[in-house]
Amino acid sequence: MSQYIVAHDVGTSGDKAVLVDVDGRVCGRVVEPYRAFYPKPGWAEQEPEDWWRAVTRGTRALLETTGVSPRDVLCITFSTQMINIVPLDASGKVLRRAIIWMDNRAGEQAEKIMKKFGGAGLFAMIAGAALSGKDGLPKLLWLKEKEPQVYNAMSRFVDVAGYLFYRSTGNIAMEWSGASVFGIDLRKKVWLSSLFKYIGLDPAKFPPLVRSVDKVGVLTAAAASEYGLLEGTPVIAGAGDAPCALIGSGAVGEGDGHVCLGTSGWVGVTTERTPTGKCGVATIQSADPNKAFLIAETEAAGACLQWLAEEVYKKEKTELGVPEVYAFMDRKVAEVPPGSNCLLFTPWIYGERAPVDDCYVRAAFFNLSGEHTRRDMLRAVYEGVAYNIRWLVEIVEKKFKFPLPVLRVIGGGARSRPWMQILADVTGRRVEAVSNAQEAGAVGAALVAGVGLGIYPDFASLKKVVRVDSVFQPQTENREVYNTLFRAYQQVYHNLRGFYRRLNRDRFNKSI
Ligand code: ADP
Repeated sequence: MSQYIVAHDVGTSGDKAVLVDVDGRVCGRVVEPYRAFYPKPGWAEQEPEDWWRAVTRGTRALLETTGVSPRDVLCITFSTQMINIVPLDASGKVLRRAIIWMDNRAGEQAEKIMKKFGGAGLFAMIAGAALSGKDGLPKLLWLKEKEPQVYNAMSRFVDVAGYLFYRSTGNIAMEWSGASVFGIDLRKKVWLSSLFKYIGLDPAKFPPLVRSVDKVGVLTAAAASEYGLLEGTPVIAGAGDAPCALIGSGAVGEGDGHVCLGTSGWVGVTTERTPTGKCGVATIQSADPNKAFLIAETEAAGACLQWLAEEVYKKEKTELGVPEVYAFMDRKVAEVPPGSNCLLFTPWIYGERAPVDDCYVRAAFFNLSGEHTRRDMLRAVYEGVAYNIRWLVEIVEKKFKFPLPVLRVIGGGARSRPWMQILADVTGRRVEAVSNAQEAGAVGAALVAGVGLGIYPDFASLKKVVRVDSVFQPQTENREVYNTLFRAYQQVYHNLRGFYRRLNRDRFNKSI
């Protein structure tokens, strides 16, 4: 008889839940959407109760649709959005709505912290990147300064995963990868308590740490009845969404690289080294407790295609719906020659984190001529995201010395065959699209839990468990056109960064 792991990928717009068997096969999937609140410009909050409702309802729906018995569920685990703050009082009561990762309210506090270290330039040299109003420590400081009644009543803060651990088991904990975006020593795996004290935060408010593979506890009777599972079912920590997705890519060996093309995207590397960041690249804890995760994150990948579907292919999107509109766009892309008839698109619709750390830059079509059609614009968008990924790959290779001859791809974008071929051609590398690419986060969490339960001996063994759907080799006949356009792409940024700063600085700073 088969046994299963229930894994939840608790994202920003909803929870993607999967039921995975012990061979890593996805046997059921359910999506449960929930709300986000934007009470002021730059603020973003969520109701922790909504996450709880989604994971419990999602679990029940998984069992119902697959007919799997709760007796055959080995454990439940989580892959969660990162950099969130849920303040809990001593009795475990939530003191305010969660401040989530996309919230940008703590800019002033980020400046203050960096000033204590001699300013943004010096701070970036020490820590690898400047702090922003989206980061965890500035947000905690914001809470202390702007809502002291909440900060003082807060016994501990937790993140999304921590909240779900607490509701499921009654135990309070934060998993290493989730903690690493607030501040842990990546070698010793302890909180950076002296740093917290130095910037005015109370280290006692930081929760105890656990590893991704650890059993946080077991389901209480109350939690079990809401999940539709058995009391005593183990809860294995899992990890942050990006670290879990890394595991779901199967690129788990030393120096293995992968690319995520979700709404945002990244180039990531698994490593035992803990390099300091530069060019907006960061090093966080991997879901593998013995490895770090070098991550070069771009703010918009699939988001650019979503924008196109909404604004340029609106009629088709309305008629066909999602995901068929993407299949339609894929067919149209194949009708345009590589290089999009010399039309260039830069994908910076939300500003950028890496390859350029610049909140003022924005997207554009360059070299648009009368003969271009929306099909050319479409292909230019697919290619623009690929140029950005090539730039990230080159930074990882040249500045961090990780050669990346093969790119494992996860995220919804991996479902697009023409996009994968473009990525192979633009980067000049072999591209491997992973099966269940869009569920890589949840599948990754299930595999982490599988290591925790001893189903898999170690993380290295997961390489064989994750299956590759299709392979794309770079086509030499397209090399020249893409090399030329990639150089032009980089020049666009270098020539126009001052222009974007002048155009947007006052406008953006006013709205924050
Ligand atoms: P996230 O979980 O980060 O929100 P997903 O991994 O679900 O994102 O990926 C969503 C993206 O996948 C969409 O923005 C879209 O660009 C892309 N996508 C999905 N299916 C296709 C397809 N068939 N062709 C091209 N892109 C696709």
